[in-house]
Amino acid sequence: MRYQEVINEGSKILKLNNIKSYNLDSEILLSSALKLDRSQLILNLDKEINKIEKKNYFNFIERRKKNEPIAYITGYKEFWKNKFKVDKNVLIPRPDTEVIVEQVLDHLKINSSKKILDIGTGSGCILLSILKERKKCSGVGVDISKNATKLAKYNAKIQHINNRIKFLNSDIDNFYGGKYDLIISNPPYVKLHKINSLDRDIKSFEPKVALNGGVDGYAKIRLTIKKSSTLIKRKGKLFLEVGFDQTRETLKLLKLNGFYTNKIVKDLANINRCLVSTKI
Ligand code: GLN
Repeated sequence: MRYQEVINEGSKILKLNNIKSYNLDSEILLSSALKLDRSQLILNLDKEINKIEKKNYFNFIERRKKNEPIAYITGYKEFWKNKFKVDKNVLIPRPDTEVIVEQVLDHLKINSSKKILDIGTGSGCILLSILKERKKCSGVGVDISKNATKLAKYNAKIQHINNRIKFLNSDIDNFYGGKYDLIISNPPYVKLHKINSLDRDIKSFEPKVALNGGVDGYAKIRLTIKKSSTLIKRKGKLFLEVGFDQTRETLKLLKLNGFYTNKIVKDLANINRCLVSTKI
């Protein structure tokens, strides 16, 4: 079977199973099974697939057919300027979250040597993206999931950031690790009863612990802001991602905990996504 025929066959199976991006997904999964990038695949559509590659590929298609996200199948997701290892223990990095990276880099001069804390670091993608571009900064990433912490450490290794980063497995409530110049967080903020109405790709595969914001959606936002106010230096900055309808309430929480909000930044879909505040 030639690559083109394989793509068509996979695409047909995905379409029959209501996967919207069937063609693209089929192509991405074939490049992953062949360990080629997509442009190389497109240049070699007449090549014959071997038995092992074919078996791997149709395995991938079986998984995608059941709505498993592409990133969990291929094991990687692009975020900001790099590729991060992901698995079912961490949320797949979202383009919307790049807003935090952009804002932090905007704030930090190229030679600044700030200490950064990332609360609920997951794959580590936010913190690592920042440290990669600010070589004199150092960071600590904390996550309640032990497996997420392991994965973040692996990502630090493949990004060659070792001596200025630490990933710790801890509940932020029980974390007492000094004072930071800058705190970043994309906490779980989805209301408990809304989790079931998320896309099937998300609700059946991504870790609930990374999404669940409790009954009102604010359980972890509240905790993050409260803890940040004790872990941040005076005049330090907090960069927080929130849900599409959570700006007003979060602004109140920030004020209540001694933060002055400098900026509300929109994501690519023009939705308020990132709040930048200063501890006063
Ligand atoms: N933005 C995520 C979603 O698409 C939610 C992430 C979070 O809770 N921090 O569902």
